[in-house]
Amino acid sequence: MEKKDLDWSSLGFGYVKTDKRFVANYKDGKWDEGVLTDDDKVVISECAGVLQYAQTCFEGLKAYTTEDGRTVCFRPDLNAARMHDSAKRLEMPPFPEDKFIEAVKAVVKANEAYVPPYGSGATLYIRPYMFGSSPVIGVKPADEYQFRIFTTPVGPYFKGGAKPITITVSDFDRAAPHGTGDIKAGLNYAMSLHAIVTAHANGFAENMYLDAATRTKVEETGGANFIFVTKDGTVVTPKSDSILPSITRRSIMYVAENILGMKVEHREVYFDEIKDFAECGLCGTAAVISPVGKIVYKDGEIAFPAGMEDMGPVTKKLYETLTGIQMGRLEAPEGWICEIK
Ligand SMILES: *Cc1c(COP(=O)(O)O)cnc(C)c1O
Repeated sequence: MEKKDLDWSSLGFGYVKTDKRFVANYKDGKWDEGVLTDDDKVVISECAGVLQYAQTCFEGLKAYTTEDGRTVCFRPDLNAARMHDSAKRLEMPPFPEDKFIEAVKAVVKANEAYVPPYGSGATLYIRPYMFGSSPVIGVKPADEYQFRIFTTPVGPYFKGGAKPITITVSDFDRAAPHGTGDIKAGLNYAMSLHAIVTAHANGFAENMYLDAATRTKVEETGGANFIFVTKDGTVVTPKSDSILPSITRRSIMYVAENILGMKVEHREVYFDEIKDFAECGLCGTAAVISPVGKIVYKDGEIAFPAGMEDMGPVTKKLYETLTGIQMGRLEAPEGWICEIK
């Protein structure tokens, strides 16, 4: 496989058009077979449901080259299942989960020249998404939908080492109780933009959102779940119905408990407890784990003992174990690695 002549290590996290994308349409009550196409443009009604009432959801996963030269992606079955849940909640017809996985494989295969080489730190980001494409003006679900998957090569998340970030506690809420915080809907991101632009303007890398009802419990950031490590080495992750169930976070908790033999807790986490934790990290597909060194809020700041120079020891162990599994250096639990042939 001849790779494209790209400078993999200098790629950022941006859109780079690749050769092929997958498109399927839902019409007259059923999904068609879908095709791979060169056409990167979407043509829909000016009154499409997605444009008027934001009827859209998405997924995000990566393909990469393992140490022994295979092209793989990580647990796409969980992305398929989560997109099914997102579609149901938004009254969209779910794209069949087995077809989702087939389509991911087909689109990665068709763009294999863009899958960055092992060791570059870069990956091929895969973006499945769907939207209401038929006209909707009275508020109701669309009758027709389009499901698409494109890929774009993205650079190493940590250039020059995983430096801990400083985050702030947002004055805005991300997700309401009984709302849509637990699905991957574009609408959750649209309303987070003002909060993240504000955080960046104030010099912070990310927002910590608290639970909207009481503002006492930790939820997540705009696009990553939290993990904490207690001083006696227990890995703790917040539990709430309005947190998006991160596949990375679920995988880390599994690895911590079953491979590293650590104690793990998935429970409500009060903001007041955080000052007693030893380490803090953000987890999601993009960074795997991004260490948090400091949290600044209205009445003060919390500096984690691991400091601002490097990941804490437990975070690092989790990071190295999970990326080792992903890159084929360590044996993966059954079904985690999906090879693209
Ligand atoms: C996608 C996403 C995550 C991370 O999920 P992964 O499956 O680990 O990539 C976390 N929080 C939100 C709000 C998200 O949209």
